[in-house]
Amino acid sequence: MTDILWTIAVSLGGICVGSFLNTIIFRSQKNIPIRERSKCMKCMKPIHWIDKLPIISFFNLNGRCRNCSSVISWQYPMVEMVTGLLFGLLFVRAMFGYGFLGFEDQSEWIIVFIRDVLIACLLLIIFVYDFRYSIILDRFSVTAVVIALLANLYLGADPTWLLLAGLFIGAFFGVQFLVSRGKWVGSGDIRMGLLMGFYLGIELGIVALFLSYIIGALAGIFLIAFKHRKPESHVPFGTFMAIAMIITLFFGQAIAGWYLGMM
Ligand SMILES: [Zn+2]
Repeated sequence: MTDILWTIAVSLGGICVGSFLNTIIFRSQKNIPIRERSKCMKCMKPIHWIDKLPIISFFNLNGRCRNCSSVISWQYPMVEMVTGLLFGLLFVRAMFGYGFLGFEDQSEWIIVFIRDVLIACLLLIIFVYDFRYSIILDRFSVTAVVIALLANLYLGADPTWLLLAGLFIGAFFGVQFLVSRGKWVGSGDIRMGLLMGFYLGIELGIVALFLSYIIGALAGIFLIAFKHRKPESHVPFGTFMAIAMIITLFFGQAIAGWYLGMM
């Protein structure tokens, strides 16, 4: 019973964190300090606390500013809901010991949980930011790389294997970057490759790498079919890598097992 209550509490906390992630995403792009009071981007009127409640306020206001009726982005409630869901799932996952990478000591589950929520938050920011603005900011990707590396070393992952995993997947993008002089992939993709290896290890890192291309191809077909994008337009690959890593975190073992079974 207490487990369920804890999971609900953690999910609600996640929803509030999601609200903060939205603030980070919009303000990073416009270079507005995080501590400044929030206001409507259209009419510039400060927003009352009652209109800042995560998820609830958006639906209460029918997705429009109370003052000027300008449309509020669907990104707000979506990011809040996804963050809440991820927090709850990651909490349950860590609590019941569905971890990997040297995660043998059950007492370390809280470290696993903190590692996973921090990286999930950064991946969510990268997911939305790269999709909206076509760039992966170093402040998000490099922070995730450092957290993944330090947390996994602390949890007892083999340093040599971990370094090799990161460097291998990072080099996969690094070589493409050098050969194409930055035309095929961006330097942000190299850092995301490092993250895949440092966070997930070599096997699951490669699962995530493959998954990024599959998701990217499916999204490309979908977007071209519905004429949202021209075939030659920029592909937000960071978006696909971020979602691939989150899927791999939950289903990586199952995907790897299924694939090896087919061989
Ligand atoms: Zn307004």
